[in-house]
Amino acid sequence: MCHLERKTFAVIGAGPKGIAVAVKAKVLEEFGFIVDRVILIEKQGVAAHWSGDFGYTNGEMKLGTPPEKDIVFPLETNVGNEALNTRIHQRLLHFTWTSFLVHTHRYTDWVDRGRHAPCHKLWALYLQWVAEQLAPEVSIVSEEVVQIDLTSDSKRWELTLQESTKNKRLIEADRLMLTGPGKPRVNFIRGNPGSLPPSTYDLESFWDAFKMKTFSTSGRLAIIGTGENAASALLALSQYAPHLQVDVISPRGFLFSRAENYYENQVFSQPEKNGWSTLEITDRLDFIKRTDLSVFSLHAMTILNEQIRHRIIPGRVVSLKHDGHAISLNLAYHQKTFTRIYDQAILATGFDQVATLKSLLTPMAQKVLVRALSAPLNQQIIASKIQPDLSVQDMQPYLHLPMLAGLMQGPGFANLSCLGLLSDRVMSHFARKQAKNLKEIIPYRLEAKR
Ligand SMILES: Cc1cc2nc3c(=O)[nH]c(=O)nc-3n(C[C@H](O)[C@H](O)[C@H](O)COP(=O)(O)OP(=O)(O)OC[C@H]3O[C@@H](n4cnc5c(N)ncnc54)[C@H](O)[C@@H]3O)c2cc1C
Repeated sequence: MCHLERKTFAVIGAGPKGIAVAVKAKVLEEFGFIVDRVILIEKQGVAAHWSGDFGYTNGEMKLGTPPEKDIVFPLETNVGNEALNTRIHQRLLHFTWTSFLVHTHRYTDWVDRGRHAPCHKLWALYLQWVAEQLAPEVSIVSEEVVQIDLTSDSKRWELTLQESTKNKRLIEADRLMLTGPGKPRVNFIRGNPGSLPPSTYDLESFWDAFKMKTFSTSGRLAIIGTGENAASALLALSQYAPHLQVDVISPRGFLFSRAENYYENQVFSQPEKNGWSTLEITDRLDFIKRTDLSVFSLHAMTILNEQIRHRIIPGRVVSLKHDGHAISLNLAYHQKTFTRIYDQAILATGFDQVATLKSLLTPMAQKVLVRALSAPLNQQIIASKIQPDLSVQDMQPYLHLPMLAGLMQGPGFANLSCLGLLSDRVMSHFARKQAKNLKEIIPYRLEAKR
């Protein structure tokens, strides 16, 4: 009998990434591998950011990537044994988008309607359907991680969890993974950190106002940013406030859409096969810029092509202030600065994942991470140190940051493009070690139960 010690792997967030890792852990365990005990810690409910109740959507927006890029796509498993890989894939197929449709009697209808992109709410139902099947191998804890520290010997993580009405409690873990988009990036606005000028919204407060119907439907609106979040806000507002005049502030002077062709898509799905890590760093950054960040999806662009109340204003925001009547935006473009006046502004300026990390890590944990990086904690430095298992190089205990893995490991790890590969990178190396001694592995416990 194999006597490997089982470790604990804490994942903050039961969104697509957390669930993908949990499914892989569950299935490997069903096959008899001794993998880390995965605990998903979720403060708002499984798939909260997609349901429309939380996050940067009202739930009615369409999923940008095809739903077939699901929790197990692209079915990549490497436990070091081809026959086992195939059997593991057969089991993983149960957790696909198609399987969800079949099990919930939606399949025929979806095909006959042209395999349309689901809205976020339906995507949330799919994720929740998968999550319901994770027990007993994986547990989901409904609490918020309010602090991340290290144990006194610095060998394990020590997380402080809090349930809304209850006291805090501590749990320890050998490995930790953070998920989620991070905090909206609004640091170019000077003044009181954490508070925005009147009528100025970050993504969080915009979606809150939109859902509560407190967002004004008249006047002049500036949307700052040209990525998918700006596109989502524009799409939502085009129905809610069709007469609103909207200026999209673009530092490059244009709106770009990605091509979503085979050559782009395959890099997201299969970074290794497309030589991602052999590309020059500048080319990788260029690829991400053209296909992932600061670009609209084709779906959004097709709808927005028909809208006539939007225009693009070239400029980078230098400052934003509210004088009591209106918002004054100071912009710079082509060595000139100029001011524009608006009634409302939405800051769709991206996310800062490291801000989330910093807000949770204690000074002692930050110190250990800085020592591992041999550099200050910033997004570019951490992104340049992400290893194939999506953890930070030289950091002990392990810290997995898939949302920062795009640059080093492949652009799909930062989003939903290769969740099956992501889970394999994070979970399967344990299985590979054990597969060397295959006689000790019980093949697929569920078969034994039948
Ligand atoms: C509006 C929108 C649409 C998008 N559409 C697409 C798309 O179509 N295709 C694509 O590839 N990418 C898309 N993205 C990007 C996508 O959200 C990211 O790829 C993200 O990484 C999704 O998976 P996740 O599991 O990391 O995060 P999430 O689904 O955001 O899950 C994170 C979870 O962590 C929980 N959480 C956060 N902090 C704590 C804490 N301290 N304690 C406990 N729980 C916590 C949250 O409640 C949340 O449920 C979209 C992003 C947005 C904002």
